[in-house]
Amino acid sequence: MTSLGIDYGGTHTKLMLVSEEGEEIARASVPSGSLDELAISARRFLDESGRAATGFAVTIAGTLDPATGLVGRAANMSWLNGTRPAETLAGALGIPGRAVQDGEAAATAEARLGAGHGRDDVFVIALGTGIAGAHVVGGAVRRGAHGAAGEIGHIPVAGNGVRCSCGQIGCLETAIGGTKIAARWADHGGSPSDGATALDVVRAAESGDGSAAAALDAAARALGRAILELAALVDPGLIVVGGGLSRSPRWTVDPAIDAARAGATFHTIPEVRLATLGVWAGARGAALLAPR
Ligand SMILES: [Zn+2]
Repeated sequence: MTSLGIDYGGTHTKLMLVSEEGEEIARASVPSGSLDELAISARRFLDESGRAATGFAVTIAGTLDPATGLVGRAANMSWLNGTRPAETLAGALGIPGRAVQDGEAAATAEARLGAGHGRDDVFVIALGTGIAGAHVVGGAVRRGAHGAAGEIGHIPVAGNGVRCSCGQIGCLETAIGGTKIAARWADHGGSPSDGATALDVVRAAESGDGSAAAALDAAARALGRAILELAALVDPGLIVVGGGLSRSPRWTVDPAIDAARAGATFHTIPEVRLATLGVWAGARGAALLAPR
């Protein structure tokens, strides 16, 4: 049994063929386009791999009804709004498939095969443009009764008075979100260039810029506070942190763990590991979630 994972991104789409045991068989990255173009790319990928897939899953970066596969709103891929991508692709590829949330796919792969391998109770945090969370128990993401569990980015722990896109003030995301951290650098007296990224803030801190270091310190403290809340509410067995900013752990994850441990009273702060699967986690996780 071979499964196809499709990580359908705004600019590039990653395709991965995975064995029943979760081993990678083949991978390809193609420019993103319409669903019809994606079906052609996926068909060509399968032909070139010389393997038949028994099922597929396609990731959606947006709101999705997991029962019907209907996309609500995909902010950066608006052509998917109101469509059922898995249905279209299943018709074109001739195999059964389903749509899954991108964060669910990446967290499933990371928990089952990446940093969480061999552990039963894993909370995965992704430090990206937004801050995503997923509690993976026994290899499956717990979505909650209304599909809204894991929103760690919107716990108000930053204490910075900044209004979040969700409407609350001081969410974790306002402090450490990939596009927000340059604004916080400015709040701390820095002068980021237009379009400065989280990586620019890290580079500035590494070259001795005190305001950049202060913004990262505030971000790490907010993450530490969120880890404390997570320990109180979920008590996970292992925390895995991935996403762009996790690649500079000295400025982000390490001080966050220190802050969480320093603030713990009744809490058990579990082991925290960095994610290991990188940008292919979504495609691999989608393959794991394909119908079998
Ligand atoms: Zn928020």
